[in-house]
Order: sequence, then C-alpha cells, then structure tokens
Amino acid sequence: MAERPRDRAICLYATDFSETSQVVHLLTREHGVVHLLAKGSKRARSATGGRIDLLSTGEVVFIPSRGTTLGTLTEFTEAANHSPLRKRLAALNGALYMLEITRMLLAEGDPHPPVYDLLAAALDRLDRPDAPTAAVLAYFQWRLLLHVGLLGEMGRCLNCGRPLDRRGTYFTSREGGMLCRDCEGGWTEKRQVGGEALAGIAAMTAMQRRQPASLTEPQALAVLDLLTYHLSYQLGRSPRMFRYVHPAGRH
Ligand SMILES: [Zn+2]
Repeated sequence: MAERPRDRAICLYATDFSETSQVVHLLTREHGVVHLLAKGSKRARSATGGRIDLLSTGEVVFIPSRGTTLGTLTEFTEAANHSPLRKRLAALNGALYMLEITRMLLAEGDPHPPVYDLLAAALDRLDRPDAPTAAVLAYFQWRLLLHVGLLGEMGRCLNCGRPLDRRGTYFTSREGGMLCRDCEGGWTEKRQVGGEALAGIAAMTAMQRRQPASLTEPQALAVLDLLTYHLSYQLGRSPRMFRYVHPAGRH
C-alpha cells in the first residue's frame, strides 16, 4: 500500500474538480505545499468532513502525488475554520493575501515548518478582534521572505555597511537590501525608503531579536509596500490581493 503521511495543514487554494470533488493546495507542516484531489469532499458525509474552505486548518492524511499524477487527500479533520476573521473584511483580505504570497513563494514539496508555524500563528492572531492587520501582514511577509532567502541586508547599507539615514536611504530588490545615499548612484533598480518604513524596519529587526517592539499602522503599511515591491520585482508579478490590503493599490 502507498505511504500515507499524516500532517497538519492549512488550505491555501481550493477549486471544484467535479460535482463532488475538489482539488486543494495545502501547506503542510512537514511536507511543504501539496496538491491533492479530495474525492467526494463536497459531500457532507465524506472522509474529509465536507467541502474544504480556504484558510481551513486541520489534520490531514494523504497519498502523495507521483510524477504528474495528483496526490489524494484521504482524511481531513478540521481544527480551525477561522470564522472570527472571516467576519471582518480587512482581516479576511489580509488572510487571503498571506495565502497568496505563500503560494507564490513556496514550490510544491519543499518543506518549511517555520513558515507553516508563522502562517498558523498569523491566522490565529487575525481571529482576534483587536488584531492590527497591517502589522500582522508586514511581520508575516518579512519572516516569509527571510525564510526563503530573499531578504538581504536591511539594517545597514549593503555596499558600504554604514547605518541607515532618514534623509536618504534606498532599497534595491536585485540585491534585496538597503543602500545609503552615497552608494545608491551605482544602482539603477532601486526605490527610496521613507522615515515610516525605516522606523518599521527598525521595529521588525528588534522583534526578530526577540526585543519588545511594535509597529504603528503607517509604519506597517510602509514596510508592507516596500516588501511587496521586492516580492513583485523578484517574481515578475504582483500579488493580486495587494490592492485589497494596501491603500497604495498595486506594484
Ligand atoms: Zn553605502
């Protein structure tokens, strides 16, 4: 019999496959992103407990895909549906944005347990009515980029190593880090980084060192804007949900 791993999972994407079945993309903790056929999942009394929604979090048993054949979801036991965040549009859009950038950055079958933990924690946080959505998203995106190796030198100039200066700091996506005003002339692809973003980055760096810090909403939005510019440049396309989570709209 084929090996049937058991794992924790968050549903990143779900689409109808037939009258009764779905294809789901799940972020599992130990097996990374898996694409699975959920046979009969739209029936209420199926082994997967009914239709699987985006964001739904639970325990799964599955038969992994082989070659070009989809894997099969054999069991899904939902632990959290995240219904509190679904009731607030800003939190729901934020959650869907996190799912989208996770799908953009993680390839199938490439496990990143810390990313699973990060996403699970961020969704739990958005379930709380007082959650600062922009700060949750900025923190998640920062850590996600860090885990996949895209976040470079954010604390000083990547060229000369000098500390960052409010009066003239730039970010280059190609190198994935900061440039001071004396060095920025050598780079064509760059964008200026304002005071709110710098303050937000300082807070983010402190949090990474487990020091107490928090971001104001303008700081979180400025960091999110910068990180999404970076992600869009790196991947050659922008996350579609960005315009629903940021007033700047698009990259
Ligand atoms: Zn420099």
